[in-house]
Amino acid sequence: MEKNAAVALVTGAGKGIGRAIAEDLGRRGFFVFLAYRSSRAGAEEALTAIREAGGDGDPVALDVTDAAACETTLEGLIKEKGRLDVLVNNAGMRKDGLMVRMKNEAWEEVMRTNLDSFFYLTRPVVRQMLRQRYGRIISIGSTSGQAGVAGQVNYSASKAGLMGASRALAREVATRNITVNVVAPGFIVTDMTEDLNLEALAKEIPAGRPGRVEEVAALVGFLASPEASYVTGQVIGVNGGLY
Ligand code: NDP
Repeated sequence: MEKNAAVALVTGAGKGIGRAIAEDLGRRGFFVFLAYRSSRAGAEEALTAIREAGGDGDPVALDVTDAAACETTLEGLIKEKGRLDVLVNNAGMRKDGLMVRMKNEAWEEVMRTNLDSFFYLTRPVVRQMLRQRYGRIISIGSTSGQAGVAGQVNYSASKAGLMGASRALAREVATRNITVNVVAPGFIVTDMTEDLNLEALAKEIPAGRPGRVEEVAALVGFLASPEASYVTGQVIGVNGGLY
């Protein structure tokens, strides 16, 4: 495979959707930083798959709720490679419950992980992208942030927040060849949805089935490419028709 010098970083790259995105970007020729918190083995397996396909990358330990670590880690990686072309804010979590019974910590933990991390990670990256006058920022939202889901007031708010932040940032940086978009998956088969009855939910999905991680990664791969230069400030669903 022909290598290019472009560099990508994916958070939560050790499993699920993030791992599929990292492997897809690796196959497309990006040097991929695979950021993980606890799934180190998964990140290393993904890197092996990338190398087998002729690509390269490095695993990076990073807790996205640690603001100081986000800043210093990202700045270090940017210094190391001299550039960062693609940031995929994928790491996320849910802690569901009806709002009347929701504890402060369930609200705070979900907002910190899903939304505050966008700010802490994207800020140092945008500084570099402005210098290099090129960049692709893609965040993984959710149908839940578009429609609102009962039992997910915290999660829906965090994902809707990603959409507002991305649309605003897209306007700030559009003239510098930097695009900022959100990919909003519906129900995708990963550990995050293993406690859900996906078979029953499939009846509500026009496509009649939940999605696969590769189906999300394919759209992220396009948005990360130079060809996606005129797509910015958008929220694009990968949801089998459910929204
Ligand atoms: P998984 O539970 O499989 O993966 C979650 C990922 O987030 C893991 O890689 C985990 O890292 C990472 N993560 C969680 N908290 C932190 C943290 N504090 N610091 C660093 N990494 C963290 O879920 P999915 O792959 O399904 O989810 C990926 C994204 O897609 C999430 O943002 C989720 O909200 C979103 N999404 C998923 C949908 C689905 O149906 N599956 C639908 C819509 C959106 P580690 O394992 O290393 O700790």
